[in-house]
Amino acid sequence: MSYKVTVIPGDGTGPEITDATIRVLEATGVPFEWEYREAGIDAAEKYGSVLPDEVLESIRRNKVAIKGPITTPRGSGFRSVNVALRKLLDLYSCVRPAKSYPGVRSRYSDIDLVVVRENHEDLYAGVEFERGDPAIGKISELTEAAGMGPIRPDAGLSLKIISEYGSKRIAHFAFRYARHYNRKKVTAVAKDNIIKFTDGLFFQAAREVAKEYPDIEFEERLVDNMCMQLVQKPELYDVLLFPNLYGDILSDLCAGLVGGLGVAPGANFGDEIALFEPVHGSAPKYTGMNKVNPMAMMFSGVMMLRYLNEEQAADRLEKALAAVIAEGRHVTYDMKPTPDDPTAVGTSGVADGVIQKLQTL
Ligand code: NAD
Repeated sequence: MSYKVTVIPGDGTGPEITDATIRVLEATGVPFEWEYREAGIDAAEKYGSVLPDEVLESIRRNKVAIKGPITTPRGSGFRSVNVALRKLLDLYSCVRPAKSYPGVRSRYSDIDLVVVRENHEDLYAGVEFERGDPAIGKISELTEAAGMGPIRPDAGLSLKIISEYGSKRIAHFAFRYARHYNRKKVTAVAKDNIIKFTDGLFFQAAREVAKEYPDIEFEERLVDNMCMQLVQKPELYDVLLFPNLYGDILSDLCAGLVGGLGVAPGANFGDEIALFEPVHGSAPKYTGMNKVNPMAMMFSGVMMLRYLNEEQAADRLEKALAAVIAEGRHVTYDMKPTPDDPTAVGTSGVADGVIQKLQTL
């Protein structure tokens, strides 16, 4: 039996790192049937949409997908395809492990954290009003009536929405994940001393859910304090549970602890569908240069193999990646002592190195 998996190469450097990742996944010997689908800027030119229906249909059918990054214009322009995919497929949890591998250039050597981030709510829900929108005036009347004062007429407004349903769902996910992967502790992170009615609700929901998992330790941290703690003593933490915005920001911080975006994998899970993708974006300035590091997407592939219960193949691929990192020969510029190191290989060179290693394991 082969696994049918939807592949979305994405745009920018996405297609290059996707090619490299598909090559190493095939070299594990696990039988895959890839269904390629296009989304992002290039898809808009060809199909008139940045997220054609065929992409969603394919993922709904196959239930497993792996994707490269997709560019989102800043400030204005179309909304993020990545956010749309997570919403339309109800991929409510985002998981981003941050693990140290010997040989990676980092100030830390023994990190093993997992960021679990709620994917739908919070300031990312897309409930926003542009400056000048009459809706802001109406909301201003409400805030005034409630004794909170008016909203300035020159303000934009983005609403932070956090529900008990969404918070409990992600908290359950974090505890189930902790159990499944033999983790000991879940730390919920938000800022309820200031943002009482949304972050407070998030903590409350996590606290209640924690009671159903007495085998897993539970604790709470304020997000500002957590930033300092992660820099000073990351070894104290295990699974970190975040609402959407803090989770997005701190997953980049955690990626920085283990050597940067070039090696930071991720996955988005719903109840039935899983989509694997690196944490990093499309790094557009390097498009077509065979330059960027495909390891973050390859490690996302390791997560996908584990999800498919292909534990042996996952272990082999993870070992091969770790060996290539430790040797430091078939690695890209970001893993060399200086970015202009002439011995750095390109994206496809990393795949060659990993495949050679797989053959010896
Ligand atoms: P980015 O992650 O694309 O790149 C920032 C910098 O990090 C790059 O210039 C490069 O120096 C380095 N970098 C990133 N990935 C690397 C890799 N694999 N190997 C080596 N170096 C790497 O972030 P950005 O420039 O802020 O975003 C570019 C675009 O990607 C934006 O449109 C953004 O919205 C989008 N984005 C998409 C996703 C996604 O598809 N899930 C995630 C984040 C950002």
